[in-house]
Amino acid sequence: MHYVGRFAPSPSGPLHFGSLVAAVGSYLQAQANHGSWLVRIEDIDPPREVAGSADAILRTLDAYSLHWDGGILYQHTRHDAYQAQIEDWLKSGEAYYCQCTRRQIKDAGGLYAGTCRERQLSSNGASVRVKIDNPVVEFTDIKHGLIKLDLSMASEDFIIKRRDGLFAYNLAVVLDDIYQNVTQVVRGADLIEPTGRQVSLYQKLGKTPVSYLHLPLALNADGNKLSKQNHAPAIDNNNPGPAMEAAMAFLGHAIPQELHGAPVETLLAWGVENWQSSKLPSETEVITAF
Ligand code: GLU
Repeated sequence: MHYVGRFAPSPSGPLHFGSLVAAVGSYLQAQANHGSWLVRIEDIDPPREVAGSADAILRTLDAYSLHWDGGILYQHTRHDAYQAQIEDWLKSGEAYYCQCTRRQIKDAGGLYAGTCRERQLSSNGASVRVKIDNPVVEFTDIKHGLIKLDLSMASEDFIIKRRDGLFAYNLAVVLDDIYQNVTQVVRGADLIEPTGRQVSLYQKLGKTPVSYLHLPLALNADGNKLSKQNHAPAIDNNNPGPAMEAAMAFLGHAIPQELHGAPVETLLAWGVENWQSSKLPSETEVITAF
């Protein structure tokens, strides 16, 4: 089977070192497997988006010689597909409208107990939840082996469309990975927990799930995740070498001394040649000074 991997950034800010690690890791894993590497812009949450950041992310990928195959898929072009699937599940009874507020769920202990399952509510001010009868409580990760997930989280009938009309990440990511024939998902370890929910959706759809490889998450010296939310600095487009060398070292693939200062194409070519998932750090979080 032809390997298809992808990098799927949300356009909520410029690329920072943490997202560069996910881009480089998924790129090298795809190239080392003689596969394709796609880029998908996950623009399904406009309130969290920053104008211009999708283009900025693509320019940065270019500056780092992370060249993708084919066109870019933007999730905002996929609303009809997401809605059609939701309607199918509403019809078959595998999804339902829920009018519970976040407050009500919090007051009841934080986990949604299936309150609206049999209430046949209208769509008015409602979110849509999917029925989870066979929770997925573990999955196999290429690097970490069997990962056990929290049972109560995995059992929750989770939201696939929010009451504000926005589609949920778990739904969009699964439908798009299927649509794009993705065979393996390589991404940050912050997305280990929702993987169970995503595998549940594959099962509901009668599809074989992708395989998963979760990369260590980059933390700053205070132990916080580098993220757009906590204003991790953008990486430098004009001088990509240092961040590229640091990302490869972070991923357990420090370049040999004689390549220090080489163009990013050369660094990446060495990375493809020498890539082995066994060399990745076994921790799911690693502190970086970059
Ligand atoms: N869009 C997600 C993010 O930027 C990544 C989704 C994924 O790789 O599954 O965190």
